[in-house]
Amino acid sequence: MMAKKGTKVGRSGKTQGSSRSTSQTAVSADRFELRADVSTGNFWFDTGRVMLLKLFGAGTHDVNTVLQELVDRLVEPTGNKGEYFDKTTNSLKEYDKKNWVFPTNLFIKANPSPPKEKRLINGKEQLVFLEPPQYSLKLDLKKKKDRCDICGQEAPVTDATMWMFPFVVDPSKFGCFYSGAKRGLKLCACCALAGLAGYLGWLWRGRRDWLHFFIFHSDMPELRRLHEEILEHLKLKGQRSGNCECAFEGPYIHETTLGLLLTLFQYVRESDKLPEESRQLLSELLGAETLAGPPPMRLYAVTGKPGQAFKMNMLCEFSQLHRLFRFYEKWIEIIQGLNLKDDKPHQRLEKIFGQFYARQGQKYETLWRDKIAWAILEFSDPTPFIEQFLFDVCARAEESDRHSRGLLHGTLNVLIPYLAEVMQMDEKFQKVLAGFGHSLGTKASQQNEMGLLYALRNAKNPEEFYRVLNDAQFRLQITVPGDLLRIERQERIAGVPWVRVKTLLAIYAMNAYLRKGKETTEDANDSDLTTQEDNA
Ligand SMILES: [Zn+2]
Repeated sequence: MMAKKGTKVGRSGKTQGSSRSTSQTAVSADRFELRADVSTGNFWFDTGRVMLLKLFGAGTHDVNTVLQELVDRLVEPTGNKGEYFDKTTNSLKEYDKKNWVFPTNLFIKANPSPPKEKRLINGKEQLVFLEPPQYSLKLDLKKKKDRCDICGQEAPVTDATMWMFPFVVDPSKFGCFYSGAKRGLKLCACCALAGLAGYLGWLWRGRRDWLHFFIFHSDMPELRRLHEEILEHLKLKGQRSGNCECAFEGPYIHETTLGLLLTLFQYVRESDKLPEESRQLLSELLGAETLAGPPPMRLYAVTGKPGQAFKMNMLCEFSQLHRLFRFYEKWIEIIQGLNLKDDKPHQRLEKIFGQFYARQGQKYETLWRDKIAWAILEFSDPTPFIEQFLFDVCARAEESDRHSRGLLHGTLNVLIPYLAEVMQMDEKFQKVLAGFGHSLGTKASQQNEMGLLYALRNAKNPEEFYRVLNDAQFRLQITVPGDLLRIERQERIAGVPWVRVKTLLAIYAMNAYLRKGKETTEDANDSDLTTQEDNA
């Protein structure tokens, strides 16, 4: 999949190089050509190329100079001091200890080992460094030319290691991302350097026991503009928990991806961080207008556990960011229409998707949020997880817990257009369900009949579902709308599988049950939602 059509590397590059090489044979092996018009089709190496172009510009460069410059950018002082023996003064001298920046240090393990000798210091024999450790990497290009697995060029190649490509770790799992998975990956100098530069272009968020990283991909011109005109403004520096902002985050990849995207989407509308032109560009990249804009942008998200090295667990590709962005715009509009006094629409939307967590002892469990985020990112059905959250978390929450009052105002409103478009659930029918669910929940609450709602939730087939409705009709003195009673072929109601109708009804009913008489206090008590992120 690497050699993308339209890539003009290989033969033409080679002829160019060899025509020059007659006079420059000695230097040519140490130089490489960086071209702006080459794309490899691989998100990691293309990101690295963007970084190389930004730092060094297109043209011919010295391999070792570029390599050392990249190393210097990926190494930082740790704040600690070390000592080495200085031969000229015959004494110990201090130096600033360094290390690969976190989390690159999970992938690059090359630590310097300067010469050591035993010396007599203050009457004691000690093994000491004779110079401060210098961080460096070596490319080890082979003399013989071979085909680069990434760009297809015939050039001196080197065997890929993890410092050039984080996915080298497990070819069996991630083999589909490069050819030659079985024999290992061969890289030309340019791709190897781009691979290292990739660590300068990723976005990441991490804690002690999880690390997620994110790489956007598109055609080269768009990718360059994305990095230079947008991400450059948004990247955070010097933080232990990440180099980008997220509306919310946690140990799971989908919740964090949605958190990242919501933050990014927000900048299209308003931002004190992005200049006007950058916001315009971002909206084009996200396909805000369906005109003949640039090809859609994709996002790769990788998750794993940090430790001595990085243990990669999953790689996800999201290719419908533009579709999600259009939902985002619709949701903002809907929330605007609710005229909430406390939150701006974007803030409320962040809280809506952020709310699906529960405190468990000293920790916060965010599994529901991750499942709902997964459904939204994959354009699947989030309602079973919302139902689960309402019945298993909200309905059992302590009185003092905000969750005990049901879902945040606005949650069900944003669900409606999503279910209509993605799950083909007729909007009018959804409103019938909302109305009936509301009276069912309210009456059940007045008569303390929570058991009825659990019976509804647990209905396993249409017969059970109708039995519960019948029961409710009798015990709560309510009328079931006719639309609900018409079961169609293949156990469908109003064109959708009966279970989806049951789930949505259970959500509306339980939410109304929990909300009963508590609406007024709801907005005043939202603030406890924002504090959990630091601990999650
Ligand atoms: Zn290459």
